[in-house]
Amino acid sequence: MTDHEILQELMDKADVRRYDCYQCGKCSGGCPMADGMDLKPRGIMRCAQIGSLDRILKSNTIWLCSGCYACADRCPHDVNIPAFIEEARYEAARRGITRRDSEVLNKVFVANLKMFGKSHEMILAGLYNALALKPTQDMAALPHMAGKRMIGPAPHRIEGRDELAKLIERAENWDKLEEYK
Ligand code: SF4
Ligand code: SF4
Repeated sequence: MTDHEILQELMDKADVRRYDCYQCGKCSGGCPMADGMDLKPRGIMRCAQIGSLDRILKSNTIWLCSGCYACADRCPHDVNIPAFIEEARYEAARRGITRRDSEVLNKVFVANLKMFGKSHEMILAGLYNALALKPTQDMAALPHMAGKRMIGPAPHRIEGRDELAKLIERAENWDKLEEYK
C-alpha cells in the first residue's frame, strides 16, 4: 500500500476527510498540548493532505495528544483530529515507532490501576521517574501536592479492584477472545 492509501485508510477509520480542513488554525490555537508538539494539529492535517505519513508517525504529537477534543470542538468543519491522531498512534505502534517514555507511563499507569483500582500518584510518579530515567522530574511539585493531600504515603485500594484488573486484562487480550474472532 502507498502512503496515500494508508493515510486514506486511517482517515476512513476516524471518519475524517482531509480536504474538509482549510488550514484556519483554530485547532492549534486551542490545543493545550500544542506548545510541546513538533507538529501542531493543523500541521497534522496539512501532512495528511499532502500524503506525508512518515512525518505524522514520527511526530511527538501523536503521543502528546491527550484526546481532550478541544480542537474538534473549535473546528468550523468538524474535523475529528483526535480520532485521526488515535488511528495514527495505532499505525505507529504497529510499525514499532513508539516513545520509550510513553510506553513506560502506559505500563506503570495500568499496573497502578490493577494494583489499587485507581492511579496512585506517588507510585505512578516514582516508578515512572525511575524507569524513564528522569529521577528528578516533577520533584518541585511534591510539596504543593502533599499540601493539597493529592499524595500520601498509604496507597488506598478501592473496592472491586480485582474486577477492574480482570476487565483490564480482557481489554489487553481482546484480540484473543473468542467473541471478537
Ligand atoms: S480548525 Fe479544522 S479547518 Fe481549521 S485548521 Fe484545524 S482542522 Fe483545519
Ligand atoms: S485532542 Fe489532542 S490535538 Fe486536539 S486539542 Fe486536545 S490535545 Fe490537542
